[in-house]
Amino acid sequence: MNFIAVIILCTIGVDFILNLTADRLNLKHLRSELPQAFEGVYDPERYRKSQQYLRVNTQFGWITSTFNLCLILVFWFAGGFPFLDKWVRTFELGPILSGLVYMGVLMLLKAVLSLPFSMYATFVIEERFGFNKTTLQTYVMDLLKGLILALLLGTPLLAAILAFFQYAGPNAWWYCWVGVTLYMLVVQFIAPTWIMPLFNKFTPLEEGELKSTILSYANSIDFPLENVYQMDGSRRSAKSNAFFTGFGKHKRIVLFDTLIKQHSVNELVAVLAHEMGHYKKKHIRQSLILGILQTGLMLFLLAHFITYQGLFDAFYMSQQSIYAGMIFFAMLYAPIDFLVGILMQALSRKNETVADQFAAETTKDPVSMVDALKKLSVHNLSNLTPHPFYVFLNYSHPPVLKRIQSLSN
Ligand SMILES: [Zn+2]
Repeated sequence: MNFIAVIILCTIGVDFILNLTADRLNLKHLRSELPQAFEGVYDPERYRKSQQYLRVNTQFGWITSTFNLCLILVFWFAGGFPFLDKWVRTFELGPILSGLVYMGVLMLLKAVLSLPFSMYATFVIEERFGFNKTTLQTYVMDLLKGLILALLLGTPLLAAILAFFQYAGPNAWWYCWVGVTLYMLVVQFIAPTWIMPLFNKFTPLEEGELKSTILSYANSIDFPLENVYQMDGSRRSAKSNAFFTGFGKHKRIVLFDTLIKQHSVNELVAVLAHEMGHYKKKHIRQSLILGILQTGLMLFLLAHFITYQGLFDAFYMSQQSIYAGMIFFAMLYAPIDFLVGILMQALSRKNETVADQFAAETTKDPVSMVDALKKLSVHNLSNLTPHPFYVFLNYSHPPVLKRIQSLSN
């Protein structure tokens, strides 16, 4: 076993142990008494249910990640990567098409093997806690649409990257960087109007108090907004949410129908004010730029490792190829990805607090923001008391009690 294999193996192991530790701490951190801020909002029975929900999901997570760990180790050490490579090479498709087939087979294999887990999560766990609204028909259609979309959007991009690294020499990484960036921007631009409607129905909010209050609020903070959309989130889940998507003329603010049903007009305005806060405080632009920089870093490093023989030896590959190199590099890159991810989440948690403050200040109604957060937590059975280490590893938002506390200061 060479040095590269040892690094990758350690990374996989450390990642597994860190997550397991965080999960265990998180479960131990559960307290049977309800936090004071939630008295009168959470009935004791539902609070117990929320803790049960966390336990069930955590244990299921262990099963899933153990399976995935075994899967990758068995595939790796049984020589799955060179076996597949030899098979693909028998078709003599040339470097680009071979790469697409090689990667396609691996992705399909992964998707098929994770299907039972995903179905169990939706139809057994979510069902048991009253969240699942997905019918088998919707589920199958989602899978098919996802597959077609991945083929249509993913294949040209992957082919271009393979071609650049195959033929463009030392310039390949930054050609790819420019290409991937433009591609990401175009996809983000068309997503709200072309992609998301394939999965959900978006209807402009009907005239009335809610719409007029939202529009006059948007006007008061000088936020250009033509329309607010309602999404049929209830088609899949009883959980509720709101989000902001796209940019320029195609940007959209979207409220789940489930959210509209549960909240007062003031609470909904507070939730949207938070979303608009992300835009006004330039968080959206910031994450876009950071994403582009990360892509650049990754491609730069990829260019330096993709022909390194040690990377191929680690996976028992006798012949080098761009496509296999990309997959192996992704595993080698995992520790950097992990660290960058932690930094990005810390930044995201900070931005969430800023957006909460923005909403409270501009609506002059921090109480509605707090009420909305409380209701959302109760409805979605959120964990009120996550362990700090778990938050550090996994949370993109501060824990709800912390958000309420910052809003009450
Ligand atoms: Zn937010």
